[in-house]
Amino acid sequence: MADLRELYQEVILDHSRKPRNFRTLPEPARRADGFNPLCGDKITVFVRLEQDQVREIGFLGSGCAISTASASMMTEKLKGKTAQDALRLFEEFHDLVTGKAVTPAAGEDLGKLKVFSGVCEFPIRVKCATLAWHALKAALSGGAGQVSTE
Ligand code: ZN
Repeated sequence: MADLRELYQEVILDHSRKPRNFRTLPEPARRADGFNPLCGDKITVFVRLEQDQVREIGFLGSGCAISTASASMMTEKLKGKTAQDALRLFEEFHDLVTGKAVTPAAGEDLGKLKVFSGVCEFPIRVKCATLAWHALKAALSGGAGQVSTE
């Protein structure tokens, strides 16, 4: 089990050091800012939809390893997904990090994102892990502006 934990942390550290899709998208991409005052994480998510499908997605911001890695892995996961799938994955990811039972099917959908399951043992970190997702949800529902975890 200890080894598995280390492996998980490797993935999180890798994404926090070399975040994927770390860039803005030009207009008319949607964007929303997320802010987690508890930790100081700030993340802006950019998403371009085409026929309700996530064509491009990126993010910028600064924050702890968990929030950055979660944002990075989220962008990798959601590219090509429909907006509806993206929101469903958010629900599944939220259940995972808050320690709610995740169905085997949901676990399979999340793939690499399952590395965040350990976060449920650290409630204060849940907001770090879900920050980018909250911003994404705001962007998808059309609102610019800022979402705060508080
Ligand atoms: Zn954080």
